[in-house]
Amino acid sequence: MDYAIPFNKPFRSGNELDYVSQAVTAGDISGDGEFAKQCSALLETQFGIKKILLTPSCTAALEMSIMILGIGAGDEVIMPSFTFVSTANAVVRAGATPVFVDVDCRTLNIDPACIRAAITERTRAIIPVHYAGVGCDMDAIMEIATQGNLKVIEDAAQGVNAFHHSQTLGAIGDLGTYSFHQTKNFSCGEGGALCINDDTLIERAEIIREKGTNRSQFLQGTVDKYTWVDVGSSYLPSELTAAFLLGQLEAVDTITSQRRECYQRYMQSFQGSAEAGKMTLPSIPDACRSNYHLFHILVPTPQQQQGLISRLNEQGIHAVFHYVPLHSSPMGIALNSEQAALPVTESCSERLVRLPIYPGLTTEQQDRIVAEVQAFL
Ligand SMILES: *Cc1c(COP(=O)(O)O)cnc(C)c1O
Repeated sequence: MDYAIPFNKPFRSGNELDYVSQAVTAGDISGDGEFAKQCSALLETQFGIKKILLTPSCTAALEMSIMILGIGAGDEVIMPSFTFVSTANAVVRAGATPVFVDVDCRTLNIDPACIRAAITERTRAIIPVHYAGVGCDMDAIMEIATQGNLKVIEDAAQGVNAFHHSQTLGAIGDLGTYSFHQTKNFSCGEGGALCINDDTLIERAEIIREKGTNRSQFLQGTVDKYTWVDVGSSYLPSELTAAFLLGQLEAVDTITSQRRECYQRYMQSFQGSAEAGKMTLPSIPDACRSNYHLFHILVPTPQQQQGLISRLNEQGIHAVFHYVPLHSSPMGIALNSEQAALPVTESCSERLVRLPIYPGLTTEQQDRIVAEVQAFL
């Protein structure tokens, strides 16, 4: 179905096709070419990340993270239930167990107190998910990790160009993962990156990404032949993808400031409704600088969630909700039939409505969305 106001509209800087065409003309379009190097260098310098490896998706970067840390059968990994399936799949496919915990109702980010309560002698890692581009409480999470000798993989799929204190999301844990999927702020259709913040993990990461070979070291001249040295897979995007991505990464500031305008306009427009108790607005803690990845409101009841989404869709405005909490999904139940209730996750996912937010959403369009929401509530 075509909506007059779509949920998301990809931004184009105008340079993407030119870069793709340069890559084609140059000839070699396999992974880790000149455009991939430029994307990695841009992300490393602009965001203070030790090592960036581009990947075909954030899903792939999450899978790699679990492989790099050697997490497998008998191990537990703590994560929010309120997340995309890829966070959990990476753990399950390695034979390890995802342990789903509740979120903080203000940010819908993993609640550090719930992490503490879920730690057992089998816990190996924590995967905080930075929902909406707003950082988790990384001070508390890193302290818990240090105390318990646990690894931290930040699922920063939604957190590119967002900050916690002065650090970029993705640069804080041992590893971090980015998404450049079509629906994210900066996109090349399908794409991602692995952020490596612990030097000692770089070599293993490069080997796993190159099908279990030491090809990267060979190309760097540190070994004289290349061969199979470990388990691995193919986690390199093509140079065409990297070329397109560079056109997006160069526009990071423009994209973010346009999204910020949309976000702030919603916040101002809905302030009265929030004060009247008709909805709960999102909040950004003082320690965080958001990239305004998404805008959501919480309505008082599940009936209103369904009603509001239908009403907006009927009016040509595409609004959606997410996530079906993973612990209550068919796969989550199959994995653990004795899962305890997660009250904040369950309540919020039934009341959350996401509204369109993207560069190019006009003031008139936003006024229409606001008017429809207010009329319904
Ligand atoms: C989008 C998203 C992913 C998956 O990203 P892909 O690049 O599509 O694999 C993973 N985790 C979260 C929290 C996401 O929002």
